[in-house]
Amino acid sequence: MDARPLLNRRLDGLGTTIFAEMSALATATGAINLGQGFPDTDGPEAVREAAVRALREGRGNQYPPGPGVPELRAAISEHQRRFYELTVDPDTEVLVTAGATEAIAAAMLALLEPGDEVIAFEPFYDSYAACVAMAGATRVPLTLRAPSFRPDLDELRSKITPRTRLLLLNTPHNPTGTVLTRDELGAIAALAVEHDLLVVTDEVYEHLTFDGTAHVPIAAFPGMRERTVSISSAGKTFSFTGWKVGWVTASAPLVTAVRTAKQYLTYVSAGPFQYAVAEALRLPDSFFDGLRADLRSKRDLLADGLTAAGFEVYLPQGTYFVTTDVAPFGEKDAYAFCRALPERCGVVAVPNSVFYDDPEAGRSQVRFTFCKRKGVLEEATTRLKRLAV
Ligand SMILES: *Cc1c(COP(=O)(O)O)cnc(C)c1O
Repeated sequence: MDARPLLNRRLDGLGTTIFAEMSALATATGAINLGQGFPDTDGPEAVREAAVRALREGRGNQYPPGPGVPELRAAISEHQRRFYELTVDPDTEVLVTAGATEAIAAAMLALLEPGDEVIAFEPFYDSYAACVAMAGATRVPLTLRAPSFRPDLDELRSKITPRTRLLLLNTPHNPTGTVLTRDELGAIAALAVEHDLLVVTDEVYEHLTFDGTAHVPIAAFPGMRERTVSISSAGKTFSFTGWKVGWVTASAPLVTAVRTAKQYLTYVSAGPFQYAVAEALRLPDSFFDGLRADLRSKRDLLADGLTAAGFEVYLPQGTYFVTTDVAPFGEKDAYAFCRALPERCGVVAVPNSVFYDDPEAGRSQVRFTFCKRKGVLEEATTRLKRLAV
């Protein structure tokens, strides 16, 4: 159905998300869906049981408090101290949201004026472009280029103008798997301080890093506390993407600003799940280590299979995703490749090209997720080997 005549100009060009399109294709064709990044195994049983208990005991079945239930805000504060030695006041510096998605939307709607510029890495997570557009602001891409996908910090400096209001970061980065280093973050933080910019940082993959790569929050750098909105979520860390429990941590004025927008989006959400996520955040280190080890072995399984099938593979340092290039197959258009892939070999993937403004930069890049059971990944890589013949 064509909604274009009805859509306002801010949303022009924002059609159905690629994830919905490709997941629908997977359903229609019965292909293995390595497109959308959701696990095919639920998170810890104890956390599920905590949600059931909250529901049965009547905790969170009615509107929870606007900032989130106190138990969860306390657990988020403890989590920031435990993993990053960051101190956040659970009463004034934490806001629970309907997933990271709402946190991003509320931050953009609260902090941007029409005409402001937002610098973000491309390829973008797809909601960034939409939220910046809905706020009437302009996105300014900083392209992460293969094979390293590191940000060019001189280029970043050159993109800052008097209209730049905000840097929108994502580390670990979806889809490339880049994890910003301490040096890169220090340089970005120094630019933010020098130019008095706000930083909104999407860290939903904070616990999903591999090979000893550490996630470092930019909020920990000098001068950043007062200008950083840090966003995370339970979805990816605990394998409950359907619960949509996310959160913001920031200085009290920034949290108040974001909450002002958030209260008119959903007001509150996910009451009983908030209690369960409070328990999840307090799981022992063995849970977080086990999650990383499991995903790392799945990353390697998929990356090896893709290499054997003939893809150029860019090994990620974090997240759920492997980015590949299909140029070795003589393919130039990732979108066309992904539309044909279910027919050709019964697998669904997502074209990274749709996450770039620069149509050349990611033209033949394709993203696969590895947050699936090993048997599923093995079957997918077996099927993908048909491309080689
Ligand atoms: C999955 C994802 C989100 C959305 O998180 P929710 O908590 O499900 O809303 C946000 N940012 C990135 C980069 C993601 O990959």
